[in-house]
Amino acid sequence: MTGYNPVDKTIKDGDEREQDCNAAVQSVNFIQSIINQDNETNVYNGRVHTRFPPEPNGYLHIGHAKSICLNFGIAQQYGGLCNLRFDDTNPAKEDVEYVESIKEDVRWLGFDWEDREYYASDYFEQLYQYAVKLIKMGKAYVCDLSADEIRDYRGTLTQPGKNSPYRDRSVEENLDLFQRMRAGEFPDGSRVLRAKIDMASPNLNMRDPVLYRILRATHHRTGDEWCIYPMYDYAHPLSDAIEGITHSICTLEFEDHRPLYDWVIENVDPEVHPKQIEFARLNLTNTVMSKRKLRKLVEEGYVDGWDDPRMPTISGLRRRGYTPESIRDFCDRIGVAKSNSTVDIALLEHCIREDLMAKAPRVMAVLNPVKLVIENYPEGKVEYLEAENNPERPELGTRKIPFSRELYIEREDFCEVPPPKFFRLSPGKEVRLKNAYIIKCNNVIKDEATGEILEIHCTYDPDTKSGGPASGKKVKGTLHWVSAGHAIEAEVRLYGYLFNDEDPESEEAADFMEKLNKDSLQRLYCCKLEPELANAEPGSRYQFIRHGYFCVDTVCSKPGNLVFNRIVSLKDTWAKLMKGPEGKTK
Ligand code: ATP
Ligand code: MG
Repeated sequence: MTGYNPVDKTIKDGDEREQDCNAAVQSVNFIQSIINQDNETNVYNGRVHTRFPPEPNGYLHIGHAKSICLNFGIAQQYGGLCNLRFDDTNPAKEDVEYVESIKEDVRWLGFDWEDREYYASDYFEQLYQYAVKLIKMGKAYVCDLSADEIRDYRGTLTQPGKNSPYRDRSVEENLDLFQRMRAGEFPDGSRVLRAKIDMASPNLNMRDPVLYRILRATHHRTGDEWCIYPMYDYAHPLSDAIEGITHSICTLEFEDHRPLYDWVIENVDPEVHPKQIEFARLNLTNTVMSKRKLRKLVEEGYVDGWDDPRMPTISGLRRRGYTPESIRDFCDRIGVAKSNSTVDIALLEHCIREDLMAKAPRVMAVLNPVKLVIENYPEGKVEYLEAENNPERPELGTRKIPFSRELYIEREDFCEVPPPKFFRLSPGKEVRLKNAYIIKCNNVIKDEATGEILEIHCTYDPDTKSGGPASGKKVKGTLHWVSAGHAIEAEVRLYGYLFNDEDPESEEAADFMEKLNKDSLQRLYCCKLEPELANAEPGSRYQFIRHGYFCVDTVCSKPGNLVFNRIVSLKDTWAKLMKGPEGKTK
């Protein structure tokens, strides 16, 4: 077995990998070193408490999986805790459907928040009281400028902002207005509460940021109780503080918000001061990851819902057939860094192949069938031949597969006028049928009108069966097959990337939708599968020999009407990438 090392980018064998793992016990990432230092200096009395804070405005994606693995993983490593907190401060875009899907996804990934399921909306009253406190301290004021005016007054990176004409309202007036904002006396957008910090700060986030806005929207938890809602930059640090979070891990775009995070906490003065730590978000080639863009694909019908097997959502990956282990392994291998980069999607595919190599039973499935008739095999005879379930794991045993005079093989495995080095079947040539006999092609029967091949006629050599006198005979090609009279039919769905371009979000692209791959789904309706698969359970995974790993679709598949999704083909472009041109490890 091989493994990818994100540090020196090599594929390693088992022994080397084990040595690396031992070394890795000592090597720590930058987040762990911050925590180690905090533990040494006893800032949090040795406590480690993290949180995963999704906004319930969409389904989680593989980028969120990185954050989940990181936050829950850190808590596990340090014997600490990790909360699940819904950051539900924007009722216009949020919904309980998303809350439920997020819980299902985190649980499926293998993490447990126990009874620590929290909502920023649970803190609305407390956040309001903190705002009153800031007003009383002269650190917040009600501002009547419009959103456009606030933007104009803010200044730019090179020019300082201007003070709002409302900045010097008295504490009494501010308290009165803020209370009336809450009471619903003013229209949406007419007033905001702002922090009074510094309109000349070099950091734009510190130029009197908005803390509260008026918004009449029904919240999925608090209903119409509130018509003012706190902004993220205000609600987030205080939610962290209320929950006793020690390390508030977030993505890099919040680095510039850290001074405001600290300002809010210091001025409200709660007992613990959580530390915000930023890491680079995950980007994947051929993938868009923003919820806004994923929602567009769903709402405009380019995909079949958030769990479409082509989506980078956790529910899409699950339906496609990815395992939680493979996603956790992926998140582990990409590691955490301080600067943004894009990970090759081939690494994710490599992880699921590695996981399923030993787990998934191997079966034969003919996706594009053509009939093959063995002329010297008795009509009506059926033999049950033995096939290994998984050669990687002999303990998984064997099964019996029916063999008869009429079989199906892949249309592509026959060529009437073969090119050089074509080792599959062609007139006069021999191949082995996997787990069965060597056959020789004699002639073909074609549709006279179209020239399409209808049947391939062969003879077989009875001595070439496993255990037979000529079982050791060597031929260049081995083909998979199924017995025509015993095969079951199924639909098989093959997937390409949703986006043709490696970087669909690149700045040159006017619109990411231009890069959408119109042929990302291919449906094959009359595939022929081993009879063993008739009872395949939804969600179960198999290797179809020579075709890749497949999973029974959990939405569309029904007994008698099976639908399989291809998770990934067998061609490991990642492992290949990591090897030099001569197949040597780079
Ligand atoms: P999007 O940009 O897709 O809308 P978001 O950041 O608004 O995502 P949240 O629900 O706020 O989504 O994210 C919850 C947590 O997941 C946050 O801590 C966020 O930093 C983290 N996260 C989101 N996207 C990624 C990513 N691509 N890689 C790593 N972490 C991410
Ligand atoms: Mg966010």
